[in-house]
Amino acid sequence: MQLSMWSRKRPLLREYEREASPCAKKPVTGLSAPLGGWEADGSEGAAHVRPSRSWGHSCPDACWNQQAAHVENTRHHLQQLSSWADTQYSVNKVLELFKSGQAPSHIFLPDSVNEKFRAFHRDIQQECGAEDKQHSWAVIEKREEVIMYGPYFPNYSSGEHSEDTVIGQTQELLESGAASDWKVYVFTVNSPCLARSTAPCMLNLVYKALEWRHLYGVKTHVGYVRCWGFKGNKETAFRDVTYQQVERMTQTEDYEGYVNAEWTADVNPLCEGLYAAAKRLLGSGHLDFPLSGPQGQDWRSHFKSVHGIFDDDPEEERKVLTQEANALIEAAGARLPERPARLGEYLEIGKEFALSGAFGPNVPEPLRDQMRVAFQRCWREMVQDKYAEFIRERLTEDFNRCTVELFIKEIVEFTKEYLEIGKIQFSENDLKVVTNNLSDAE
Ligand SMILES: [Zn+2]
Repeated sequence: MQLSMWSRKRPLLREYEREASPCAKKPVTGLSAPLGGWEADGSEGAAHVRPSRSWGHSCPDACWNQQAAHVENTRHHLQQLSSWADTQYSVNKVLELFKSGQAPSHIFLPDSVNEKFRAFHRDIQQECGAEDKQHSWAVIEKREEVIMYGPYFPNYSSGEHSEDTVIGQTQELLESGAASDWKVYVFTVNSPCLARSTAPCMLNLVYKALEWRHLYGVKTHVGYVRCWGFKGNKETAFRDVTYQQVERMTQTEDYEGYVNAEWTADVNPLCEGLYAAAKRLLGSGHLDFPLSGPQGQDWRSHFKSVHGIFDDDPEEERKVLTQEANALIEAAGARLPERPARLGEYLEIGKEFALSGAFGPNVPEPLRDQMRVAFQRCWREMVQDKYAEFIRERLTEDFNRCTVELFIKEIVEFTKEYLEIGKIQFSENDLKVVTNNLSDAE
């Protein structure tokens, strides 16, 4: 993709879009109330909200009081918002939610906005081709014309995320003479981050949307393909969950029972929020996971103990036995199903193979039993490790989704006037292009 910016005139798609938008023919209201030179909490990345334009008419006291209360409210909410950049704060908040059993469901954009994003997305793909990495683009929609710009890609070595460029470009375009009936659409593959230590993109966009509304009267829409949240090095809530802990959570009825089981095993229990999140996942029934087998890079490394049996043998014998052991391990891997399967199914495959797997004539009889036992233990540990890894990934994914959605849920009440943000729902055809190619790029 090479495009940086293009514009085109095209008829707007639906009749309702021809109607004047609520803010098209009147002065900017609501957030254009004087903010008294206030700057959003002074933290890095916060929008510097400039003093508003003069309204040019005298306002009755009641009106001013209302405006003052509104400004105070906005100030309060924005201050609250900045705490979302604090990982510990956000983690606790989301875990509390898990604990209460009220984790939010997906937050999608309204249909009309969703359709806009899909149409723009098709246009961008036609112009630039499908893209598989994290990127962003944006559209300014005027009455008779749309200006599309992007795609932009992150430059992680300089700490720049793709949304930074989109924000900069949008700012320039708006400064060139925005009208209040313009609409801003920002697309990003991964939802804007909360993870960057300074100026996370999610907060930047909220502050910018407020500023753009305040200065130009425009409304901003942000659409993403999947939740990103705290992905990256800040995401550690579930890092240490082990297979044994997962097993104890599966086997116990409630948190108290789980805590007792952990104490008995002389292990520190997970906190109640983590437990609730895990229990929710474990009870969901969607626990099939993929296992890559011999084609996976680390396949043989799981079976070191099998080789360990003849490590001290003379070199020639060791060579032969190593070949035999490798053949055995690969043959076992070939029995793995191509589809994702349950923990129990994988364990059963290893158990059966340990009993029935054939050895070559070069393996002496007494060694066979030892190798069978070692193989079965290695197999079991490998499957359990992979299962625990899968559970940690799913928990982290859930956690990030909930973080993003809780954030959006929390801001929607006071940002709905100027910002709409949510996941884009693509059709199956759209998805073929989008998600098949997605990589964990950001
Ligand atoms: Zn970012």
